[in-house]
Amino acid sequence: MSDHYDTLGVSRDASPEEIKKAYRKLARQLHPDVNPGPEAEERFKEVGRAYEVLSTPEKRQAYDMGVDLNGSGGGFGPGFGFSDIFDTFFGGGAGGGRGPVPRQRRGQDALIRLDIDLTEATFGGQRELSLDTAVICPTCNGTCCQPGTSPRVCEVCKGRGQIQRVARSFLGQVMTTQACVACHGFGTVIPDPCLECSGEGRVRSRRTITMKIPAGVDTGTRIQLAATGEVGPAGGPPGDLYVEIVERPHPVFTRRGDDLHCTLEVPMTAAALGTTVDLETLDGVEQVDVRPGTQSGEVQSLRGFGVTHLRGSGRGDLVVHMSVLTPTRLDEPQEQLLRDFARLRGEERPAGRMAPAHQGVFSKLRDRIAGR
Ligand code: ZN
Repeated sequence: MSDHYDTLGVSRDASPEEIKKAYRKLARQLHPDVNPGPEAEERFKEVGRAYEVLSTPEKRQAYDMGVDLNGSGGGFGPGFGFSDIFDTFFGGGAGGGRGPVPRQRRGQDALIRLDIDLTEATFGGQRELSLDTAVICPTCNGTCCQPGTSPRVCEVCKGRGQIQRVARSFLGQVMTTQACVACHGFGTVIPDPCLECSGEGRVRSRRTITMKIPAGVDTGTRIQLAATGEVGPAGGPPGDLYVEIVERPHPVFTRRGDDLHCTLEVPMTAAALGTTVDLETLDGVEQVDVRPGTQSGEVQSLRGFGVTHLRGSGRGDLVVHMSVLTPTRLDEPQEQLLRDFARLRGEERPAGRMAPAHQGVFSKLRDRIAGR
């Protein structure tokens, strides 16, 4: 993993202001809308991750001690504006309450579903996804202010984001702290909000991203695309995008784990005499040997013709279940032949022998249900 300081191009003792400035600059350069391509996208995400860690005091402190708290999820992201300055004025959290709330927050994670077919699940692939999401406002670059203007310290709370009230109760005087209503606790107000984003710092936009589908995914597999979700309020770092896979049923193959199952219908004569059948697999046509005397319910496995293992290597099997077809609607010569055949085998009036419990189609079915 790369070093977050190197990623943003700042020194290890960089101030929050320097870190923020470096992030803004890089985010603008590398934003997928400006700079498409997988390399810039990867860099963009990396920059987002680095910023999330280095702009959060606890995370940065932990990171400096060798612990990366990124991925611990959500919560409030980095702050900007005047909060840094006012933290020093008022001693931050050192006894004067919790101070102003950062205007900038991490964007929300998003979950979308993606329908794929069995071939994509088996071999993997690439998809273009069209996303309705929030991106950093191109006019104000997430500052929420009209270009050329800047936030102003809230006059009501003097930048603290909170107001203290003295209330009288039967216990005596009680001090209560409330978020400042004038600035919503931010400590600053925006006198001239950006017109494009109405002072949100982000705008809704349709984006197209290219995602890789790993071979071996299944219904319910979630793929995390870090920092591909929506940009947060005031241009905060983007959340993650989760893509949940939904595999469409295949008309012929049923998937169980990484094995595929199908039923091969074999005419009675071919089952008795043996033959070779062409079977259309996901890898093209394969020959399946039907050995002489094949019974309904017997299986033949084509090793390695199933779904790719998502973890590890190799593939599951394609399990072919034989189904012997008894002919119906015999014409006269056919019926005569079969009668002659039955006579030759002494099967004109078979006794209807019971198969032992461990044989026959019924036991095979039972085995399959029991998972043996
Ligand atoms: Zn704007």
